[in-house]
Amino acid sequence: GNSPRYDYIIVGGGTSGLVVANRLSEDCNVTVAVIEAGDVELYNPNVTDTSRYGNALGTAIDWQYKSIPQKFAGGAPQGLSAGKALGGTSDINGMTYLRAETAQIDLWEQVGNDGWNWNSLMEYYKKSEHMQPPTAGQMLLGASYEPESHGTSGPLEVGWTKSMMGREVVGPLNETFTALGLPFNKEPNAGSMRGFNVFPKSVDRARNVREDSGRAYYWPISERPNLDLYLNTFAERMVWHPASNEPGAKPKASGVVVMTANGTCTTIYANREVILSAGSLRSPLILEQSGIGNPAILKKHGIDVVVDSPFVGENLQDQTTTDMSYTMSNSTNLTGLAGYAAYFNVEDVFGSDLSSFNASIARSIRNYAERTANASGTISVSATEKFFQMQYDLIFKNKIPISEIIIAPAAATKSLTVEYWGLLPFSRGSIHINSSNASAPATIDPNYFMLDYDIQQQLRTGRMARAVANTAPFSDLVVDEVTPGLSTVSANASDAEWAEWLKSTYRSNFHYIATAAMMSQELGGVVDSNLTVYGTGNVRVVDASVVPFQVCGHLTSTLYAIAEKAADMIKAKYA
Ligand code: FAD
Repeated sequence: GNSPRYDYIIVGGGTSGLVVANRLSEDCNVTVAVIEAGDVELYNPNVTDTSRYGNALGTAIDWQYKSIPQKFAGGAPQGLSAGKALGGTSDINGMTYLRAETAQIDLWEQVGNDGWNWNSLMEYYKKSEHMQPPTAGQMLLGASYEPESHGTSGPLEVGWTKSMMGREVVGPLNETFTALGLPFNKEPNAGSMRGFNVFPKSVDRARNVREDSGRAYYWPISERPNLDLYLNTFAERMVWHPASNEPGAKPKASGVVVMTANGTCTTIYANREVILSAGSLRSPLILEQSGIGNPAILKKHGIDVVVDSPFVGENLQDQTTTDMSYTMSNSTNLTGLAGYAAYFNVEDVFGSDLSSFNASIARSIRNYAERTANASGTISVSATEKFFQMQYDLIFKNKIPISEIIIAPAAATKSLTVEYWGLLPFSRGSIHINSSNASAPATIDPNYFMLDYDIQQQLRTGRMARAVANTAPFSDLVVDEVTPGLSTVSANASDAEWAEWLKSTYRSNFHYIATAAMMSQELGGVVDSNLTVYGTGNVRVVDASVVPFQVCGHLTSTLYAIAEKAADMIKAKYA
């Protein structure tokens, strides 16, 4: 008939989806469609203006997902932001470009993913990147990098914003971190992140605009005749070819049912593959609406089971963020922008209490695994225990960073935000459909602070954050603590007092992952090492859903690399 038909359909024109669209459509013999629920935001200043981070949150280009009340964390639900635009969450994020630790990416291979390790991913970090080397003036303000760790001919502009904050901030800040035992790290993107850094961002320095995945991967190739973009189009579910009688044949998706901008429902057909890139809070839901998931959940909503895949939507992991704020002295010249991050390992954070903390977490692993498996109902104690043991080793043996503190002075208000989060929380939760109506809200439960390690880490880091503001010479620039303030959390507040305040004020760090995790099925995987959904013949997931456990960096750099690798794997299959 007249129904549109393509070789590949990509669901979600976001951070990862546009990488895949660009690379697959390089071959002019194949046709590609991108289905995106949002619109073009090329001239939305909340997207483009590099100084407006946060302004897009809560607007029409934020999906504004919401968790259920968090029973281990004070009871309140949490707002979960995600971008609804061509470019996805790369349109609304903080633009921070920081990758991961070597040891944690190397573990991907240990959980059933042949070929996924730091060295192989490094090739793709570089492939995606176009590093704009810092100018001499920017180097004076702390911008630094090592050329061998960066790409020079990829689509994504990475670098430092045009105007950077003055030396009167970065100098004292660096001296304060040195006084606290933390060295300057001149290349945090080479797999070893501990230290203080002035990080690069996804930014087009010459144009002085945010570099989102649209500007990097879509607009330069938007005229390709073999690439169609469906904007304001909501993908509801996949449809399937009739079951084949061939032995070993797996179900194959024939297309995607979408709701178009004018409210009509139609199907777009796929010859080869459907690639889900709708983000970790959406791709697992599209799988469930399409009959791939835990049969008990699908049956409850009257959805026929196409593939029994019990771990879809399980293993949800996020981090928790706390903001502290200070007033800064009037004499401080705060013009310009810069990103300052400090990465601390467990030794930095726990100091002389390290060995008792180590012993208490070692004793808790089994109990953590039992409680996590119990809360899930489908993931096993033994698999969870294996993950927790690996995470324990990363923290206490490899000593990779466990806490990140971001220092953000604001010119307009002469104020300072000190923001921090735990990089490797143990708590895990889930996301599942709550209706057979694809646009109905899901049940999202990250189980924030379910396991004691997470709050211990957060309150110790809170004390470190306060120490940063109170340690010379940076303390000379700081006047008062506004949040929490000493009347709320006193200078000698107990662990319990800190914990109570933290649970009343934390937010999601928006680094949701693992809801369709890439790992072996015994461990709870949903996709294999080619990112193909287990049990299907032609459905892949390429977005943050597949990341099996947290990375210490921020997610986009790693997602661009994953999507580049995914595109190569797809091309290789049909070559
Ligand atoms: P997305 O980029 O979210 O793409 C999913 C796309 O699918 C979206 O365009 C969406 O509209 C579309 N979609 C969803 N459902 C449907 C549907 N049913 N039909 C059609 N289309 C659909 N990371 C960093 O590296 N640095 C940072 O500074 C940083 N800061 C952050 C700040 C915030 C506020 C947030 C929310 C995140 C931040 N992150 C940051 C995290 C990072 O941006 C995200 O993890 C990443 O962009 C997610 O990419 P993705 O490809 O998984 O999904």
